[in-house]
Amino acid sequence: MKVGIIGAAGRMGRILMEATLANPDTELAAAVDVPGSSLIGADAGELVGQGRLGVALADDLEKVVRDAEVFIDFTVPEATARHVAVCRAAGTRLVIGTTGLDDDQTAALRAAAEDIAICFAPNYSIGVNLCFKLLETAAAVLGDEVDIEVIEAHHRHKIDAPSGTALRMGEVVAQTLGRDLKECAVYGREGRTGERERHTIGFDTIRAGDIVGDHTVMFAAEGERVEISHKASSRMSFGRGAVRAALWLGRHERGLYDMQDVLGLAGDSAGWGR
Ligand code: NAD
Repeated sequence: MKVGIIGAAGRMGRILMEATLANPDTELAAAVDVPGSSLIGADAGELVGQGRLGVALADDLEKVVRDAEVFIDFTVPEATARHVAVCRAAGTRLVIGTTGLDDDQTAALRAAAEDIAICFAPNYSIGVNLCFKLLETAAAVLGDEVDIEVIEAHHRHKIDAPSGTALRMGEVVAQTLGRDLKECAVYGREGRTGERERHTIGFDTIRAGDIVGDHTVMFAAEGERVEISHKASSRMSFGRGAVRAALWLGRHERGLYDMQDVLGLAGDSAGWGR
């Protein structure tokens, strides 16, 4: 399958190009980054130390949108919103890893999925997606008897908080318990906060050094607590998962999917379409 990478010069973009080149079923057919980048025009293969490929880094998705069957976009929300529109107009599939999209941008993505196949996931690692499933079970069993806290840590360059993965973990738990995350989430605490309210879901964020991504959901009762944790030690875990999603998306003409669908883990509450 011909795959294009958007945000190709970024931390994830380079990993995604490596993952595409390493997979025997995918071919790196296009690479895009932001206009003005000194790397525009450079050979995509040489950017990741794999020798010349004959694929030049383009400065606009519109120029290369027909060169690939599916694009993978790990950029910034404003850019992703535009790329959704460009792919919709061209009828090209899109795998989105960008986090921090607002409600309007997410609604536009949903609308575009009426015409094209889109996979949108806050975390493409297989381990994290297994954790989403484990969280459903834990929340269903432990229910309203426990206090629930989501703690996450990432590298110092991350620009959004809490992470998209932490928010999704909170959503999975909230949906399982019939709560609305918008109403029950508490982001950080300071000063005289009063006693904790049982129905809230707390979020705490650490930004430090080069941490690739740690997430823990704590279910704490009187006398015992359960913690479900995931620690990513390499971005390649996301890269491999996103390329797997791109291949899977090739079987679909339209619709909005997430990594739970790709992995066959989709249940009642974990995905977008449900
Ligand atoms: P980064 O800053 O290293 O890379 C982003 C790249 O996007 C840069 O090269 C930038 O120039 C490029 N870009 C910006 N605007 C663009 C545009 N209009 N057109 C083309 N390219 C554009 O960031 P990163 O660490 O690679 O993370 C990128 C995104 O991926 C973030 O939102 C991050 O949270 C998310 N992320 C998601 C997962 C996941 O599994 N879903 C995993 C890791 C990171």
